[in-house]
Amino acid sequence: MKVYVAASTGFCYGVNRAVSICERLLKNGIDVYTNGELVHNEEVVGNLKKMGLKILEGEKPVIDNEFDSSTFAVRAHGISPEIERDLRKSFRRVVDLTCPIVYNVFRLAEGLEKKGYLIVVYGKKGHAEVDALCGRLNNYLLVEPSYDLNEVFSEILKKRCDKVAIISQTTMNHKDFMEFSSQIEQSLDAKIDVFDTICSVTVKREEEARRLAEVCDAVIVVGGKKSSNTRKLAQIVQDFGKSAFHVREPDELPELSNFEKIGLISGTSTPYVQIQRILDYIETKYEGEVIHNG
Ligand code: SF4
Repeated sequence: MKVYVAASTGFCYGVNRAVSICERLLKNGIDVYTNGELVHNEEVVGNLKKMGLKILEGEKPVIDNEFDSSTFAVRAHGISPEIERDLRKSFRRVVDLTCPIVYNVFRLAEGLEKKGYLIVVYGKKGHAEVDALCGRLNNYLLVEPSYDLNEVFSEILKKRCDKVAIISQTTMNHKDFMEFSSQIEQSLDAKIDVFDTICSVTVKREEEARRLAEVCDAVIVVGGKKSSNTRKLAQIVQDFGKSAFHVREPDELPELSNFEKIGLISGTSTPYVQIQRILDYIETKYEGEVIHNG
């Protein structure tokens, strides 16, 4: 058996930055809070909790005076300015762990709005990044992937704007976003500017998932069950007609002895140690040959 490991696995830049800064704060004995999961990986969040990280429930956490000696850590995909203002009043310090790539999208959208554009945001309602982005805008329209094109046209026309900027949540499917944008460009009589704001890290991993699905009999996708980018990689493999095994640990894998060529890829919030455990298991149980960047 040969195991082909994708070139990009493990944490992406933004997740690595958020996790390492949070670890540093905790190691220095600082009392750190965040809201929801800092990253969508149970093991990483579990380790941070063991180090002392406290988690407040809900996107808009209930906060009071008891936090005035604590620090709040903003997650990698940001927070709305309104919530951030409240947090700054209650916490001694707010550490912004928003990924710089996401931050650039916020700045871009705010700048375009100032120039008179209607901002069409292609993304998922309720996603932290989308809430953070839309919370910075007044003149915007949020379009979800399940959109009805006629409804989108009529909503845009109602806004009576002669300049429209289309941008995307950084983790959306690239092909779907480009298709959506070109449908708007072709049919709307207005100045339309499309900004491809999808993070290149996720685009690259999607390309690798397709390539591995093409050359392998099955692909192991390592990552948290709530991680949408990990689920998307598994879906890409399945769309290719190949088996995708979305797992966190070796004991979740099925019997693999029937496969000769297996691919391995991970979501952006999967630590490398989790990948290594899967590789060690395959090497030991099946005497598999691991080929990196294969
Ligand atoms: S996926 Fe991209 S945008 Fe999101 S945290 Fe990672 S590097 Fe930043």
